[in-house]
Amino acid sequence: MGRFFDLVNDPVHALSEYSSAMPVTAAQTDSTSAALVKLNANESPYGPSPGAVAAMRAALDSSNWYPDDHSITLRQHLAKAHGVTPQQVLIANGTTSLLGVIARTLLGPGRNAITSACSFISYPVVTRAAGATLVETPPLQGGYDLDAIAAAIEPDTRLVFLANPNNPTGTLVDAAALERFLDQMPAQVIVVLDEAYYDYAHYFAAQRGIEYSRSLSYPRDERNVVVLRTFSKAHGLAGIRVGYGIGPAELMAYFERVQDTFAVSSIAQAAALAAAEDKAHIRFAVENNATQSHSLAAEISKLGYPVIPTWTNFVCIDVGQDAREVARKLRGERVLIRPLGAWGAPTSVRVTVGTAEQNQIFLHALQKISS
Ligand SMILES: *Cc1c(COP(=O)(O)O)cnc(C)c1O
Repeated sequence: MGRFFDLVNDPVHALSEYSSAMPVTAAQTDSTSAALVKLNANESPYGPSPGAVAAMRAALDSSNWYPDDHSITLRQHLAKAHGVTPQQVLIANGTTSLLGVIARTLLGPGRNAITSACSFISYPVVTRAAGATLVETPPLQGGYDLDAIAAAIEPDTRLVFLANPNNPTGTLVDAAALERFLDQMPAQVIVVLDEAYYDYAHYFAAQRGIEYSRSLSYPRDERNVVVLRTFSKAHGLAGIRVGYGIGPAELMAYFERVQDTFAVSSIAQAAALAAAEDKAHIRFAVENNATQSHSLAAEISKLGYPVIPTWTNFVCIDVGQDAREVARKLRGERVLIRPLGAWGAPTSVRVTVGTAEQNQIFLHALQKISS
C-alpha cells in the first residue's frame, strides 16, 4: 500500500487498474514490413475523411483561441441531421468522457446502474468512480438479456447502459425488442443507448432486412433515453476524441453543467463537422467492413473456431484455450488483438475487422499458432 492510499476518495479504491488496448506509436503501425497489425481497439483501418483532415489543418491557425464551449455549429448541424433540437444535443470529447459526465450527474453512493456482463469496459469504471454500484446481469447468447435487466431494476436504479451493438461480443438488440424493454422502464431510470457502432449496424441491418434502431424517435418524444454516437469508429477519428449524446433537453442541460469547460477542442469540432458531411467516406468504411467481416468470419470458422455473427467492425471468437496466450503468440507474429479475460470470457478474443491485407496477416498468424 502506497503513501497516498488513505488520501484518495473511496470510489477510487473501488476502481481496478484498467489498461486500454496496448498503445502503439504511429510509427509501429505504418505500412513498413516490420509494422504491427493493430486489430485490438476497433479503430477504422480506412483513416479519417480527407475533408476532416483539411478542416483540422485549417483550424490549427486559430489554436490561440479557446473553442466554442457550446460547439454551436456542430450541434446545430447534428440536430438538423437527426431531426432534434440543438438543446437535445451535447457534444463531448469522446463518448467515454460523456459516460463519465452522465454517471457523475445521475449516480452517487446508494444508487446503482445496470448493464450486462461482458459489455463495454467503461460502464463499471464510470459507475464506480461516481461512488455507485454496477449490477451486471448474465449474458444471454453472448448478448444482452433485457428481461433480466428489467427484473433487476430497483428504486435506487438511475441508469441502464445498453451498448447496441454490444462491445466486445458484436451482438444486436433489434428495434422491437428494445421498444418492449423501454416500455417497462420506471420513471426514475434513464436508459443510455450506446450506439458507437451505429453506422456499421445500420448497414448490416439494411442488408439483412432487420430493423436496427428507432433510437432518435425517443429524444423526439422526450423519453428517458440518451443516445450516444461517436466519431471514433466509422468516421475514423478515434485519436481526436469527439462524440455526442442526444436526449431530453432538460437532462442534456444538466450534463452540460457537469462537463468540463472547453471540453471539446476547436480541432475536434472542425473535424467532426467535416466528417459528418463526408457521407462517401462513411459508406466506404461500412461497405468494406461488411465485405471483409464476412470473409474474415468464414476463414476463422474454417480454422475450427466459433465466431459470433457480427453487427460491428470486430468479431468475437472462442479460441477454446487461454486467450491471453493466444494474444501473446499473435503479438509474436506482429498482430495485436484483445483477449477477453477481463470481461469474464477467458477463452475468447475480440479482433477488429481490418483491410483485406491486414486480415490475411491475422489469419495466417492464427493458422500458424493453431497448428
Ligand atoms: C468505441 C466505443 C465507444 C466510443 O468511445 P469514444 O470515447 O467516443 O472513443 C463507446 N461505446 C462503445 C461500446 C464503444 O465500443
